[in-house]
Amino acid sequence: MPIDTGADAPELSVIVPVFNECENLRPLLDRLIPALACVKSFEILFIDDGSHDATLTVLREINRADPRVRALSFSRNFGKEIAIAAGVDAARGRGAVIMDADLQHPPEAILDFVRMWRNGYQNIYGVRQSRDTDSAARKWLTHKFYRMFRVLGEIELPEGAGDFRLLDRVALEALRGLRERARFSKGLYAWIGFKSIGVPFDVAERHAGESKFSYRKLTRFAFDGIVSFTTVPLKAWTYIGTIIAAFALLSAVYFLLEALVIGVSVPGFASLIVSIMFFAGVQMISLGVLGEYIGRVFAEVKGRPLYLVAERIGEARTPEAVSAPDCQMQAASTGEMALKEDHRAKS
Ligand code: UDP
Ligand code: MG
Repeated sequence: MPIDTGADAPELSVIVPVFNECENLRPLLDRLIPALACVKSFEILFIDDGSHDATLTVLREINRADPRVRALSFSRNFGKEIAIAAGVDAARGRGAVIMDADLQHPPEAILDFVRMWRNGYQNIYGVRQSRDTDSAARKWLTHKFYRMFRVLGEIELPEGAGDFRLLDRVALEALRGLRERARFSKGLYAWIGFKSIGVPFDVAERHAGESKFSYRKLTRFAFDGIVSFTTVPLKAWTYIGTIIAAFALLSAVYFLLEALVIGVSVPGFASLIVSIMFFAGVQMISLGVLGEYIGRVFAEVKGRPLYLVAERIGEARTPEAVSAPDCQMQAASTGEMALKEDHRAKS
């Protein structure tokens, strides 16, 4: 269902995914609201990704004082990528900025984004000037990931470009149409295309709290990125298998000739065991790669909604949260939420 971007819609929406960021909300708004003086009207849309600190309470207070600040609260933690998708679904602006809550993305850079937007660009992405705020290991792994993606990926990922960006309504609508569950937003922004340009910005240190991304989460995310945007790892096994089979055939000819000429020699136990283990390993890896893809196909065909909203703060209207095929699920889950609320009220 298209979102209402009628006459009363703000010029710009700012989408901020938040997970346990209560200490950062007010400092962010203290800088963000003055920075938004460059647009005629705005809304700030927080997506509370199942926080268990005071984030939701603070968001309610902020909304009471300033209705331009709205929020959606998920029923649990769905992850930053899904929170961004919810923001894109619910944003009513003619354009939307996506940014982190921890002040690593300087709000003042929005002025540069808006300038480019007014020049006709539709997908304006911030390019971080350095990764000095990241740990050495994370920097190294990120660099390796980008290199691997460049070789394998079917789209071009500009290095240093992340979620901090301004998307025009056309790009937002395009993103709203992409309902994949294993979301790698960086890839999706590049995949939709449109008139794109990078704007450099300096990444700051996190204002308060700690990064929510452990190495385990980052590895999962890197897998999502590769698997969502290339089938090379799947196809590679055809080539690897062919090479191994050709090698086995040559070895068979060699050993046959050797047996005929020199006779059968018994030793060779060690090499036999090693080669059995090696090929068993190779087969396991290929099965693992298949599993990565099949697991994602399974997640997609189940067709569950991307997220469930438990509460909408500062919203009279209810923009639908999911695409048309998911509407029934959404209706059912909303019913469930109401029941839960009811139950809580009674207990
Ligand atoms: N975030 C989220 N859900 C999560 C993890 C993070 O909404 O499961 C939000 C977080 O609150 C912040 C943004 O995503 O606004 C970026 O997170 P973080 O600063 O931890 O990531 P990093 O800067 O280390 O990449
Ligand atoms: Mg951060």
